[in-house]
Amino acid sequence: MSDDLFQRIPAAARALLKAVSNLAEKQGVVLYIVGGFVRDLKLGISSTDYDLVVVGDAVKLARALRKSYGGDLRVHKRFGTANWTVTSVKSNLVQTLQDFADEAINISELPELLDFVTARSESYTQPAALPKVQPGDMQADLARRDFTVNTFALPLSEAVSEILSVPEAQQDLDQGLIRVLHDQSFIDDPTRIFRAVRYEQRLGFEIEPHTLELLQAALPYIAELSGDRIRHELDHIILEVERIAILERLDDLGVLAAIDQDLVLNATVRAGLGRLPGDTENADMAYVTWLAYLPQEDIQRIAARLQFSTELTEASLAASKLKSDLPDLSEASPSQLVKCLEHVPDLALKAMTYVLEDANQKRLVENYLNDWVDIKARADGHTLKERGLEPGPRYKEILTTLRSAWLDGEVSTPEEEEVLLERLLND
Ligand code: ATP
Repeated sequence: MSDDLFQRIPAAARALLKAVSNLAEKQGVVLYIVGGFVRDLKLGISSTDYDLVVVGDAVKLARALRKSYGGDLRVHKRFGTANWTVTSVKSNLVQTLQDFADEAINISELPELLDFVTARSESYTQPAALPKVQPGDMQADLARRDFTVNTFALPLSEAVSEILSVPEAQQDLDQGLIRVLHDQSFIDDPTRIFRAVRYEQRLGFEIEPHTLELLQAALPYIAELSGDRIRHELDHIILEVERIAILERLDDLGVLAAIDQDLVLNATVRAGLGRLPGDTENADMAYVTWLAYLPQEDIQRIAARLQFSTELTEASLAASKLKSDLPDLSEASPSQLVKCLEHVPDLALKAMTYVLEDANQKRLVENYLNDWVDIKARADGHTLKERGLEPGPRYKEILTTLRSAWLDGEVSTPEEEEVLLERLLND
């Protein structure tokens, strides 16, 4: 085990990793923590992505852990992967793990989840298709990875002390460079185009010149990717704090246009995405904010290409429609506005508070969300029935008229509503 890097891991997580490596040793397998976790550890950034590679059977190790310590296990037998969630057993774990710790450990430093992968090699038979996978050694596992700085593997087994990586990894990390491992990399898997830009902007690195040439040459292969795989990459990007810088770089490189010619980044979109909370966890909200400025037919096409859910497609279309309708509604009464807004999905309405630049239009949507949506007449269907009105279309007319009267300030007390109701019933 390489001590100084390992010591940078929070004490509770260190104890947990020791417990895991203890079981790995009993099973006679070697265990590494790899990828972004080690990259970030070296950069002094804390990471919550505990990616563990087992040179041997990862599923068997994860099962033994659950047996010894509890928690929840999700296994993908076919891929030789498992994730072990410890959230529900954290407080018991802290006491058990104290034996593996050299200092008092703190429950808040325990990771929620450990990911286990069986070391494997990959081969690509076709551009942009998923690879063929077979068990391999640790070097083969590193050779399948995207960028040099993601190839560090820190051994967790007592018997092994050497940190593994591809040869250029440390130098690229020191110089802040994103470099692919081989010239075919972006063609094998064009999702790496998105990943390269995401890491570059997040870490303040630079894509090294030859990698940049390869990236640009591989842009036509984006067309071969499934919508799901592209959206999965965009989901990550759109939730990054640096989302605007990443999207700008993707736009400059022609990556967004390679998804769809109209998926460009303009000042309106930049401003809208800039108004989203930096740490938003709602990717759908970010997509609606991004697409609302586009005409309906462009949204339909992009939503189909990215395999959006029906809910997300409908919210994006509704937001775009509302954006073009709102300028004509500036003089409308509250009840007229409610009529327009009450059928708009909540997601679209909330996104409008980021999309809209005009303060008056924004206030209308906020008024609806904060106040008007809750304003209802006192009377309801039961009231009308009790007053002897035959069920039928009049019910809806009367209740809508009463609600409109409240919304527009024509009625402001139950007594005034009663007077109006009486008049409507007598009409
Ligand atoms: P983040 O810091 O965003 O969590 P990460 O580096 O932990 O990123 P993951 O997406 O969790 O990345 O993937 C874990 C590791 O798996 C990466 O560090 C990388 O080595 C490898 N990896 C992920 N996706 C690919 C890919 N498309 N091609 C090759 N290697 C990949």
